[in-house]
Amino acid sequence: MVLTCVLFQSDSCSVTWQRSSASWVSWSCLQSQPGLSSSCVQIQGDIAVPINRNADPCVQTGCKWPKSSDGKVYIPYVISNSYSKNVITTAINSFSASTCIRFFPRTTQTDYVNIQSLDGCYSYVGRQGNVQTVSLKSEGCIYFGTVQHELIHALGFNHEQCRSDRDQHIKILLQNVIPGEEYNFNKINTLNLGTPYDYNSVMHYGRLAFSKDNVSPTMVAIPNSNTVFGTATQMSQNDIDRINLLYCSK
Ligand SMILES: [Zn+2]
Repeated sequence: MVLTCVLFQSDSCSVTWQRSSASWVSWSCLQSQPGLSSSCVQIQGDIAVPINRNADPCVQTGCKWPKSSDGKVYIPYVISNSYSKNVITTAINSFSASTCIRFFPRTTQTDYVNIQSLDGCYSYVGRQGNVQTVSLKSEGCIYFGTVQHELIHALGFNHEQCRSDRDQHIKILLQNVIPGEEYNFNKINTLNLGTPYDYNSVMHYGRLAFSKDNVSPTMVAIPNSNTVFGTATQMSQNDIDRINLLYCSK
């Protein structure tokens, strides 16, 4: 788990690494990215949150990607040349097998996803307008399920353990969370689209997420504490159903 805060500065670039109790925290300057203004962006867990903008679910803030007249949702992307693309493109293309989402290489479109190897794995939630970064660091993020996870954020979905009904399915043990990182377990008033809570969602964190000692669990399933969760390596059927319900249904 990489905790990252990206600070945009207008004219200067500084990089500082800090070690917190169990994780590295990095500060990087990314002002050279086209289309990004000099504003501060904070990374919460693996979600990029523009300062002064609402990080609520996309569906509640109007940041869905538009649907084409043919019923498909076309999302332009650019991939940095800095790394091998096979896993990434395979994961990108996987959405077309089970949903109406069609990622395609950008030509001149205004709004698009820019996939780069930055500090960690993170994404904005929903369409931001203009270019929006999805960071997939070469070391640690190039896994099929991780790529799907970050792109599902870009489609507008939050983490499973933040769902509005999560307290019926998961108990958060804040006493085991790295001090200062408790907000990663905030409950969000999500639109759940009638789908059940899913321990096997690719959007579910594991039991040691943000653990202060990487031993003590920060979440346990209820009522059965032996229920395994957060180990998905690809989209679950529920993940697919939600994308279809949000974007592909009439
Ligand atoms: Zn995430």
